[in-house]
Amino acid sequence: MSHAHPDHYQGAARFNVPVHALPETTAEIVAMGDKTDLPTGTPIPLAGMTPTVEITPGTEVIDGIPFEFEKVTGGEIHTTLVIKLSEQGVLVAQDVVYAHTHLWFLDKDFDGWQANIDRFAAETEYDTILPGHGEPTDPAVWAELTDYVNAGRELLGDDGDAYKKAITARYPAYRGVALIDVANAYMFGPKD
Ligand SMILES: [Zn+2]
Repeated sequence: MSHAHPDHYQGAARFNVPVHALPETTAEIVAMGDKTDLPTGTPIPLAGMTPTVEITPGTEVIDGIPFEFEKVTGGEIHTTLVIKLSEQGVLVAQDVVYAHTHLWFLDKDFDGWQANIDRFAAETEYDTILPGHGEPTDPAVWAELTDYVNAGRELLGDDGDAYKKAITARYPAYRGVALIDVANAYMFGPKD
C-alpha cells in the first residue's frame, strides 16, 4: 500500500493476502476507520484493509531482485512509498507521478511535488516509470509534470469551477477530469 488515499486501499481485502505499508500510512488508514463503497453504500470494514506488515525503508531482496523501498514526503500526500527496481530500471513512483492525468492538488503542496519531481528526474537510470494514475511512462513525464504543477500553482485560486475550466482547457487530452470534481468538492464544498 503506497499511501493512505482510499482509491489505493479500499479494495485490499479482495486480494486476501498480507498487506504491507509504511507505519505512517497504516496509522492514517486506521485513523480514518471504516469506509463505505460509493455509490452502492456497501460497508468496507477497516479490518479487511488495514496493513499488517510494516515496511522499513531500505533494500530487500525478493526472489533475487533488489527492491528499494523509499519513503517520500510532500506533494500529492504527506507520506508515500516509492519502490525502485534499479537492476530493471523500473521506478514504481505511485502518486508522485500521474501520466497524462489531472493531478490531485488537495494539499496544494506545489513546491513539495516539484521537489519530488526534481529528485526523481535526476535519477536517470530509471527508464520505465509506473505512475499511480495513468499508463506506464518514461522520463519525459518529469517535464510534463513540472509543466502541470506550474499550471496548478498559477490557476488554482478560490473558485473550483473556474479552475476546472482553466486546467482542462490547458490539458484537453488529460484523463481523470472527475478527480478535479472530487478535489473541488473537498476544497470548495460540494455542488448540487
Ligand atoms: Zn491516487
